[in-house]
Amino acid sequence: MSEALIFSIEEFSVHDGPGIRTTVFLKGCPLRCEWCHNPEGQRFENEIVKSQTGCANCGACVTAGGGRLDEKSVDVCPNRLLRMSGEPYTPERLLQRLYRLLPILNEAGGGVTFSGGEPLAQPDFLCECLDLLKGKTHRAVQTSGYCSAEEFRRVLGRSDFFLYDLKLPDPAAHRRYTGADNAPILRNFRTLSGSGTPFITRIPLIPGVTDTEENLAAAARFLRENGVRSVELLPYNRFAGAKYASVGRRYHPGFDENALPRARTALFKNAGIDAKVLWGEHID
Ligand code: SF4
Repeated sequence: MSEALIFSIEEFSVHDGPGIRTTVFLKGCPLRCEWCHNPEGQRFENEIVKSQTGCANCGACVTAGGGRLDEKSVDVCPNRLLRMSGEPYTPERLLQRLYRLLPILNEAGGGVTFSGGEPLAQPDFLCECLDLLKGKTHRAVQTSGYCSAEEFRRVLGRSDFFLYDLKLPDPAAHRRYTGADNAPILRNFRTLSGSGTPFITRIPLIPGVTDTEENLAAAARFLRENGVRSVELLPYNRFAGAKYASVGRRYHPGFDENALPRARTALFKNAGIDAKVLWGEHID
């Protein structure tokens, strides 16, 4: 039986697919998007999260960890500032956790969404969860689409809905800002758009990176070529950097994090695509 680290389970979410949903965040992602607002979801291994306020500098945590922060540090903090970022779950244990809310979610036209991190990076665990939920609720997967064609088809055959992130159609720009090749992402998107499985495409609007006229025009062309007629645009979260210190990392994005992103909805409209801007600040 497979096991995965889950770094968050959010109940009653309304932005992660149809209706009201429980969203399960799997820890670990093969991408390193410079604007990521979930740094605790990036690494596959478990790690300490330390609250940035209230530390008495007593040193108990470092002493317990033998000179560094580790699992043994968590229980000794008098101010309870430390926790492990991920909790291990088997698919069965996760289902027990989700089961209680399924009748309410189903009544509200919702279901369960698997997000991350990147859920497709742990396909065995994800497929087992999707199989266990089959016939019990609506199953959605929120993904960057970065995985092999074979793994993507395995998950596609078990999901009722996808939320698919499209960032940068240009290969060099994608590699520069996410650290990964976009060929698998574009290939899997084509598979999804031809599959008949319903999905939403989402583009994050990052100032000077994804919100440029060149990039959004390329995205609109790609969507149009694949028969997509709507897109959701997600303005950059200007508080993205705040969480990095809590996992012992510095945030230094290669773009102006204080600039408001452009949405350029007319550009999509001209391509016959309905563009909706989601929450957040932006300039059209
Ligand atoms: S044990 Fe808690 S209060 Fe003491 S140094 Fe560590 S984080 Fe700060």
